[in-house]
Amino acid sequence: MAILYIVATPIGNLKDITLRALDTLNSVQLIAAEDTRVAKKLLTAHGISTPLIAYHQHNATKQDPVLLAGLEQGQDIALITDAGTPLISDPGHSLLEQCRIREISVIPVPGPSAIIAALSVNSINVNRFCFEGFLPPKHAARIQRLQQLRSESRGLVLYEAKHRIREVLQDIQSVFGPDRTLMIARELTKIHEQIVTDSVSNLLQSFDNGTIPCKGEFVIICQGDDGSALHQIEMQRMRKLFEKVSAVLSHKDAVSLAQSLSTLPKNALYKLATEFYPDG
Ligand code: SAM
Repeated sequence: MAILYIVATPIGNLKDITLRALDTLNSVQLIAAEDTRVAKKLLTAHGISTPLIAYHQHNATKQDPVLLAGLEQGQDIALITDAGTPLISDPGHSLLEQCRIREISVIPVPGPSAIIAALSVNSINVNRFCFEGFLPPKHAARIQRLQQLRSESRGLVLYEAKHRIREVLQDIQSVFGPDRTLMIARELTKIHEQIVTDSVSNLLQSFDNGTIPCKGEFVIICQGDDGSALHQIEMQRMRKLFEKVSAVLSHKDAVSLAQSLSTLPKNALYKLATEFYPDG
């Protein structure tokens, strides 16, 4: 049976392609490419003339059966996207699911990915991380997702495009606070590559004064929560508890109840409760 190769391609610099990727793109019978014009540029630069077929998120349902039929008839196929590694915030998931069901071999040909390129130059000690890719495009859904991520202790890696980068940073500032440290990696491997690390509030100023142009493609790495977001969430939870029980429990009993429900120290709970027990 034939093989589906998942081939990583450059994220900007056409020279960032592995020898194995070039061999694979040369030897397969067909290349399924997210945008055939973008693919042609890369293939021409490397003297490759393998036939191309368009495969992107809007035609995957139609193209999956075509590619699967080709594979089942013995055609080796390579899947590539516009930049970086397929399936990383890019199409290919439905095709791979079908390959698993049909027991068609899938082989990765690894190479560039914006997430790894950005992480490889982080100086904020992000060792453990979670990849969120693009946050929801709508403001309310984005705020909700950020609230869920606020107390994540691992570094957080996000992808963003130029038209939404400021809005996203503003939302990060409002949910994570102005002091959270971020690294912005813009236009990695390209002429205008820029890597800036600072607090989210300072980064927003850099966008405002043009030090960081709102142009190109962005990876954002947020430093994980050092415990302060988690502490604030817990304080908020206990504040709500005191608000509810202050009418029926004494100050002392309310603090004992809170102690049984929270990891906050007793003196912090006692102090917090005083807001609702003005007479002590
Ligand atoms: N599959 C790709 C990968 O492996 O990185 C990601 C594809 S996703 C549709 C495109 C997003 O990746 C961009 O909006 C940007 O956030 C990020 N990206 C791609 N190329 C980049 C570059 N040269 N510099 C910074 N970010 C980049």
